[in-house]
Amino acid sequence: MKASVIDEKRARAAQLGTGELQRYSRHLYMPEVTLDGQRRLKAARVLCIGAGGLGSPAALYLAAAGVGTIGIVDFDDVELSNLQRQILHGTKDIGRSKLESARDRLCDVNPEIEIELHNCRFSSQNASQIVSAYDVVVDGSDNFATRYLSNDVCVFARKANVYGSVFRFEGQATVFAPHLGGPCYRCLFPEPPPPDSVPNCAQAGVLGVLPGIIGMLQAIEAIKLIIGIGEPLIGRLLHFDALKVKFRELNLWPDSHCPVCGENPTIFSPIDYEQFCGAREEAVPAISARELKRKIDACEPCELIDVREVFEYEIARINGAKLIPLGEIADRTDELPRERMIVVHCHSGQRSAQAVRLLRQRGFANIYNLEGGIDAWSDQIDPSVPKY
Ligand SMILES: [Zn+2]
Repeated sequence: MKASVIDEKRARAAQLGTGELQRYSRHLYMPEVTLDGQRRLKAARVLCIGAGGLGSPAALYLAAAGVGTIGIVDFDDVELSNLQRQILHGTKDIGRSKLESARDRLCDVNPEIEIELHNCRFSSQNASQIVSAYDVVVDGSDNFATRYLSNDVCVFARKANVYGSVFRFEGQATVFAPHLGGPCYRCLFPEPPPPDSVPNCAQAGVLGVLPGIIGMLQAIEAIKLIIGIGEPLIGRLLHFDALKVKFRELNLWPDSHCPVCGENPTIFSPIDYEQFCGAREEAVPAISARELKRKIDACEPCELIDVREVFEYEIARINGAKLIPLGEIADRTDELPRERMIVVHCHSGQRSAQAVRLLRQRGFANIYNLEGGIDAWSDQIDPSVPKY
């Protein structure tokens, strides 16, 4: 048997009551699990970073399987557009915090377990402290800043980091655990990409079922590490293509020059990559939703350009905005005024920052990015504009 991440003492201390023996009987029959494996599951503490598309199925199955303590880090509220894939939450939960919604659902699945809620953004300030209390981390984050942070902190703390990511019809899963062999995330990608060079789920879309498959793979890997069975996905990246229904496996190797787990590491403490990446990008002039509202109310001449996609414009729009999707803006600069102020907006401010950068290169000087996009407008100015 492979080594379990739970030591003997903790496994022996986790006693199962009659109800638990009944609940987990399908595990107990299996010679690979038995009472010993189930006690390890009960003793285990797993941290789910994010209660979203990946975190939902992962946490549901970890709870059902009897992982004794599940921690969840999240700070978002449930939105209608989450429900297409984030199956922890239901329609009745819209507007509630994801953490509370998750706790209710998980307690219903299995009242025998403990749920610990971390209501915060996972950051360099809190990451080490949060991770230190857990045995395994399931990274269900949807952005590079969090992914690098969870990787680094797990390497420092010698915790297995069960990685998953999804994009449109494809997903990937692996286990980063240099202390158990294999590489870390940085062995593969030493530095994060610039923040707005990569579309996130909100911009690129994702098939609703896909995070279900990848999140469940993450749950399986966490359970294997806890019980100490099978071949973990250490040093192997599993890639799934939903359109072709194909799984491919890539071997991954540690990099001796890795800045975190290599022979001469250069990074010894957590870094907030959002700031780090932001500083590398050329900042663009920005305007807040409140300032824009003030200018509109004062009838100051100002052209509002919306660089989102047509379907987004159908869902929600700011009155008076002209729609030119980001992909068309380079070819449609003759439709933009050169004498008036231009404010560009998108959903949350990333695509519009790209547009502002491009238009400044084309000689537009009096141009600003709407901070926080139409989301900020909905939050701060006009709540009748739907969020999505
Ligand atoms: Zn590494």
